[in-house]
Amino acid sequence: MKSLLDRASEHAQRYLEGIAERPVKATLTSAELRAALGGPLGAAGESPMAIIDRLAEAAAGGTVASAGPRYFGFVVGGSLPAAVAADWLVSAWDQNAGIFALSPLVSVVEDITAGWLRELASLPETMTVGFVTGCQMANFTALAAARHHVLQQAGWDVEARGLAGAPSVTVVTSDESHYTIFMALRLLGFGAATATRVPTDGQGRMRADTLREVLAATTGPTIVCAQAGNVNTGAFDPISEVAQAVDEARAGQAAQGWQGAQGRPVWLHVDGAFGLWAAASPARAHLVSGIARADSIATDAHKWLNVPYDSGLVFCAHPDAHRGAMALSAAYIQATAVERDPHEFVPEESRRGRAVPIYAALRSLGTAGVGEMIERCCRHAARIADQLQRHPHVRILNDVVLNQVLVRFDAPGRDADQLTRAVIAGVQEDGTCWLGGTTWHDMAAMRVAVSNWSTTAEDIDRSAAAILGVLDRL
Ligand SMILES: *Cc1c(COP(=O)(O)O)cnc(C)c1O
Repeated sequence: MKSLLDRASEHAQRYLEGIAERPVKATLTSAELRAALGGPLGAAGESPMAIIDRLAEAAAGGTVASAGPRYFGFVVGGSLPAAVAADWLVSAWDQNAGIFALSPLVSVVEDITAGWLRELASLPETMTVGFVTGCQMANFTALAAARHHVLQQAGWDVEARGLAGAPSVTVVTSDESHYTIFMALRLLGFGAATATRVPTDGQGRMRADTLREVLAATTGPTIVCAQAGNVNTGAFDPISEVAQAVDEARAGQAAQGWQGAQGRPVWLHVDGAFGLWAAASPARAHLVSGIARADSIATDAHKWLNVPYDSGLVFCAHPDAHRGAMALSAAYIQATAVERDPHEFVPEESRRGRAVPIYAALRSLGTAGVGEMIERCCRHAARIADQLQRHPHVRILNDVVLNQVLVRFDAPGRDADQLTRAVIAGVQEDGTCWLGGTTWHDMAAMRVAVSNWSTTAEDIDRSAAAILGVLDRL
């Protein structure tokens, strides 16, 4: 066992030591990977050492260096060293983190980490926290709690009775809500196409004035989905104004039959997959101002908190709704009532100790370190935007308020959409850095997302030079 784990550790170290200088793209084709890894599963087992060697060799060319410093596609983050090491321990322990009785350690680490996370994001201590696989499942969990809560206030037990025959629930999103919100709505039986979509402004922010009109024109149980951090522009919905509109809607119809203490049941959910962590940087915290008023917040740890995949977080201001939507009960599950049973806050039953790498990441940085990491990524985003836009054929399409930059290439006599797509393809082929494309308000654009702890100013300069080099060759 020792020599096997030593070998895995050597492979991992070699991988991570080389990650900053290898091509960012994968260099093996799927056919080459199949040839290296496939074939029939033999009747006899093989040596674990040989299997680990085979995997490590394939990984050198078959992985994308998305954990490295010059990967700017999607919003992927990297993994802080303390988080990687802690994640190895989680695998070695092989704890089922479903209930306290199965893993007191994970239960307690979740509790401690939940407290630190609330503090970093300036959220109320009373919010419950679930450790899920990603923001998709965080959105799902939050909206399940929302569904529970608004329907319970309308006298309907949705967990027992389902949605058929239930009072209708108005779901409000924006035109720019992330597609995982709609996926969550699908899974929850609301349907993906039934939401009222509030228009957005030029940066992709929900129009609070239109939200107010939508809320005034509807009655009954309602769920509003706002966003902190647009996946293209990094822009934030005006959360304080949205929360204000929600408060007014709750109060406005109190006299029309909603006599509960909270008036009309309106739930405010915020998808803050990466944007929530602006809260950790004193210079950016104003962007999420008002978010502590949300009923639920979904976010990721595997993006900007730089822990290994997969790791998401859901915060909920209504512990009873959170538990009501998620808690399992079976005769053999021993709830302790005083200790934290992690399954009560997430859709899964059996699960790994996902909080442990987050615990290690946060402890290795401290509050100032987390804020500095967030701020540094934002500075790098501004730096690459600045360098790119000095070129006469580059246009930055967004206000760079966070870690996201939208770039368009536009030369006289060229179709800008085509040129932009050609630059993106050229950059991906070049391998100095990796960037993806998007369509923003009907324009092709290149997305830059800076979210890795290890990215330096030099990585930014090298990447900008590579991008402009591709442009000049086209
Ligand atoms: C990435 C992202 C999600 C989905 O998160 P996963 O971790 O991929 O499940 C949801 N919302 C926004 C705004 C995102 O950026």
